[in-house]
Amino acid sequence: MKEFVTEHQSPYLDLSAEVTEILYRGKSDFQDILVADTKEFGRMLVLDGVFQTSIKDEFIYHESIVHIPLFLHPNPKHVLIIGGGDGGAAREAVRHPEVETVTMVDIDGKVIELAKEFLPEISRAMLEDDPKLTVKVGDGIAYMKQSKNYYDVIIVDCSDPVGPGEGLFTYDFYKDTYSALTADGIFVQQTESPFMHQKLVKDVFSCVSDIFPVTRLYTAFIPLYPSGMHCFTLGSKHYDPLQWTPSRRRSFATRYYNEGIQRSAFVLPNFVKDLLYGAKAR
Ligand code: SAM
Repeated sequence: MKEFVTEHQSPYLDLSAEVTEILYRGKSDFQDILVADTKEFGRMLVLDGVFQTSIKDEFIYHESIVHIPLFLHPNPKHVLIIGGGDGGAAREAVRHPEVETVTMVDIDGKVIELAKEFLPEISRAMLEDDPKLTVKVGDGIAYMKQSKNYYDVIIVDCSDPVGPGEGLFTYDFYKDTYSALTADGIFVQQTESPFMHQKLVKDVFSCVSDIFPVTRLYTAFIPLYPSGMHCFTLGSKHYDPLQWTPSRRRSFATRYYNEGIQRSAFVLPNFVKDLLYGAKAR
C-alpha cells in the first residue's frame, strides 16, 4: 500500500507526497515532528503537519530569504536568524565573507538535533561547527526583546503563525526587531503566500510599514509551499531594494539567486500591489 504525507493547505486543499520511508515521527515540547523520504521532493521535514523544507527545493527558499537582504546591505557583519532550525538559512549566511557572526535562535532543540541527523546537506554549517555560527535554543520573541542596536540583518525563518511561531507575527515583535537592528539594518520574514494567505500578508505589511521607513515585499516560486507563490516581507531602515545597485561581488556559487533575481523578486503582479497598496495606488 502506498503511504503519503499530507499538508492540509486550506480546509479545501491538500498536498500529498508519496513516502518511501518514515525516518522519524515524534513530538517535541513544542510540536509534532516528521522526517520522511518522499518520491517527488526527496527528504522532507514536517512540523505540526506543515511542510517546512525539502531536499529538492530548499535552495530556492534559503537563497531567497538570505541573499536578498544580505546583498542589499553593503557591509553585513552581524546576522540574526530567528527560527531556521533546519540550518539552511545559517548555511547560506555564513558564505558571505563580510559576515563575521551569525546567531541562530530556534525554540526547538529537537528540530536542530533531527536536522543534523537526517538533513546534513541543509544543516551543514551547524554540523561542521562553522566558526561564525552560534546556535541558541530559546524563544526568538524573548531574544529579540533583549537585543538592542546590534544586528545588521535579521532573518525571521519561522514556521506559520500558529503554535510557537504565532508571536513572531505581531506588532510588538516588529518593534523589538527594529530596536535590535543597527541604524541601517534590514529585516526579512517569510510571510507565506500572497495568493493563499492574503490577510496575513496584508496585516504584516501594514505593521512593518508603520515601523520601518522602507517596506517591500518580494516573491519566489517554491513548489513545496501552498500555491507555489511564496513571499517575504522586508523592512529596512535605510536601503531600498528598488534602488539596488551591486555594492560588492558575489564570491560563491548559487543555484537560485543571481543579480537579476535581486531586482526581479520585487516586481509584483497587480493583484499583489492591490493587496498591499490598494487598487487606487496603481
Ligand atoms: N522554511 C520554513 C517554512 O517557511 O515553513 C521554516 C523552517 S524552520 C524549520 C521554522 C522554525 O521556526 C522551526 O524549527 C520552529 O521550531 C521555529 N520557531 C517557531 N516559533 C519560534 C519562536 N517563537 N522562536 C524561535 N523559533 C521558533
